[in-house]
Amino acid sequence: MTMIATCHCGGTRIELPDAPTHATSCTCTFCTKTGGLWAYYPPDVPKIVSDAHRGEYAPSGLNQHYFCANCGCTTYGISPDWELGGEGVPEKRKFAINVRLLDDFDLKSLTVEEIDGRNLW
Ligand SMILES: [Zn+2]
Repeated sequence: MTMIATCHCGGTRIELPDAPTHATSCTCTFCTKTGGLWAYYPPDVPKIVSDAHRGEYAPSGLNQHYFCANCGCTTYGISPDWELGGEGVPEKRKFAINVRLLDDFDLKSLTVEEIDGRNLW
């Protein structure tokens, strides 16, 4: 079932092919301050229908964090897929959607994994 993620003003609209079952809550300084709750997809899977006011924040250059510059919602991110392990920065990247943007979705249905990003990187 297609799921729709929208920011508060509607400028951002992203289609996902199915509802996430898992999400990641991270303790890093970025995630703590933005409140993002993340579900991951291959980068070519989410369909960005509208990204009308996209702002980008990428202080390290490794992780692109996106937000709506009109309403301020944290929307999605694209980052290296560290789960693959190995040496150096992985070429493969992953798309993280902020599941708080999903319309008509019960966040309590998610299994949430906490990652201690504040101490891991
Ligand atoms: Zn917006």
